[in-house]
Amino acid sequence: MFTGIHDDVRPQLETLRIDKDRPLVITDADEVLFNFMVGLEEFLGTRELYFDWSSFALTGNIRRITSREPIEQQEVGGLLMDFFDQRCADLPAVDGAAEGLASLSGHAQIVVLSNVPPKYAEKRRAGLLSGGMDFPLIANIGSKGEVVRFLTDGLEAPAFFIDDIPHNHSSVNKHAAHVQRLHYIADARLSKLLGPAEHSHTRLHSWPEISDHIIRHITTGGF
Ligand SMILES: [Mg+2]
Repeated sequence: MFTGIHDDVRPQLETLRIDKDRPLVITDADEVLFNFMVGLEEFLGTRELYFDWSSFALTGNIRRITSREPIEQQEVGGLLMDFFDQRCADLPAVDGAAEGLASLSGHAQIVVLSNVPPKYAEKRRAGLLSGGMDFPLIANIGSKGEVVRFLTDGLEAPAFFIDDIPHNHSSVNKHAAHVQRLHYIADARLSKLLGPAEHSHTRLHSWPEISDHIIRHITTGGF
């Protein structure tokens, strides 16, 4: 059971206390709570790079200003590590995210499930705190489905999952199909590049929409 959960993630999960009788909202951070692309574009500029907005992917879309050639996948990995190290604590919060989570916290418990590299988890925590989003953080590695199954194991109330990346919805659908999956991409430019995730229940376009949707489902008791 739960063999897909990374060894560095399990201890984080075991320190969380989930109330089995209270609804649970599991939210991603980048492009859901934080304007990742706004921060990344600015960071790329400092490295003589730019994002060309041709698809919903980092690899292939990060190009050199001088040659217009995309950088290699291997270089993207290192660049992202530097980005998280230098910018993660200061990324701007998405409009309405803090207010949305605050109103949800009157109805549900909230966990932030982010694939920020665990060594930068404290910086992400700092960003959450300064953005007015003081909720528990899991710095995940890899697929999210089994982690969501772990978090919702034995839960006797509705659970919701919010993420921008389609394969995360597919993973949650595979391992925790009972969780209602909400697809949201904060950046309007990025959102235009992608339709609703195949394995999400619905695509939503703002934090007021997300919090209204979840609260409506919790208070009417239906899916
Ligand atoms: Mg994300």
